[in-house]
Amino acid sequence: MRAKAALKQIAPYQQGKQIQDIKAQYQIERIVKLSSNENPYGYSNEIKQFLASFEPAFDIYPDGYTARLRKDLANKLNVNESEIIFGSGSEEIVQMICRAYLFTGVNTVMATPTFPQYKHNATIEGATVKEIPTVDGSHDLADMLDTIDEDTNVVWLCSPNNPTGTSIAKQDLISFMDNCPEHILVVLDEAYYEYLDEAKDLHAMECIQEYSNLIVLRTFSKAYGLAGLRIGYGVANETIINQLNVVRGPFNTTSIAQQVAQIALTDQAFIKETKRKNLLVKQDFQVFLDQLGWNYFPSETNFMLVMTPTSGTEMFNFLIQYGFIVRPGELLGIPNTIRFTLGLKDDMQRLQELFSLYHKQNS
Ligand SMILES: *Cc1c(COP(=O)(O)O)cnc(C)c1O
Repeated sequence: MRAKAALKQIAPYQQGKQIQDIKAQYQIERIVKLSSNENPYGYSNEIKQFLASFEPAFDIYPDGYTARLRKDLANKLNVNESEIIFGSGSEEIVQMICRAYLFTGVNTVMATPTFPQYKHNATIEGATVKEIPTVDGSHDLADMLDTIDEDTNVVWLCSPNNPTGTSIAKQDLISFMDNCPEHILVVLDEAYYEYLDEAKDLHAMECIQEYSNLIVLRTFSKAYGLAGLRIGYGVANETIINQLNVVRGPFNTTSIAQQVAQIALTDQAFIKETKRKNLLVKQDFQVFLDQLGWNYFPSETNFMLVMTPTSGTEMFNFLIQYGFIVRPGELLGIPNTIRFTLGLKDDMQRLQELFSLYHKQNS
């Protein structure tokens, strides 16, 4: 087979272990999956009620235009319906962006570490990837600007950043956009937007009106608790959306995902409650880590990146014996760390005990 040359450079996505496999391997009943930043509180009860009486029309193709959800979302975000694109998760929009704007001979600029799918998809398209190390987990926007050259087509900003959890400040984003050439597409990935402290809200939807080269990505996978449904969206100037619609598959989100997302939007109390509980768990865990004397990145999200006394992989292997699945930093490009989702209170209490035990064994 004569595949694209880029396919030799990269391996398929190595996903976190599946719950059933770990139960079988370690003979444990309860698994606490903290590896993919899903919502430990599940999803809105209104969705559960809807699904209880839902009569699916699986024989019919979905509405490829996603008209009803589009209308509700446009209203909520105060943007035009023509400024939205939906994807099978925002990850699919990352793919569409790469397919539309990246090819051999151009380059793309991103932070490292950051969400791995930017680099992955850019590499497949043959683009050169320029990675700018984060400083204390934050994007080095000045260095990223300096790195932009005449062959740069796309710049990726992730705020809050996965895996470090830090966010970009509003004035820094504005100054970046003001200095970035207008023909370069700037992708602002706000997958964890709902967890952000309100004071740090970038009000990115308003920036869309100001900057015609900005696209903002959001998702129903994280705070909305709908990772399994696969639906996310991008908001940008109509010209960008039209270009992305050329590469988008005609029926790329399912009818059930569209309907459930529509209900999810109406239940903002669920998001508020998720955010409140997450914050309490986060603050408690930070106090615990301070006492233990372990370093961590300040998180604006529902996960934390913590420096470990051993390799992250070693700590991963320790925790998994007790049923806790975390993400070792070695897989994220930041060795000697682990990233874990902030889970339910009792589980996090147990995790603290395991951290203490590990601390004793390794100090
Ligand atoms: C989880 C995540 C996504 C993708 O989520 P989807 O499930 O594809 O919507 C995108 N960006 C970041 C930074 C993420 O952490």
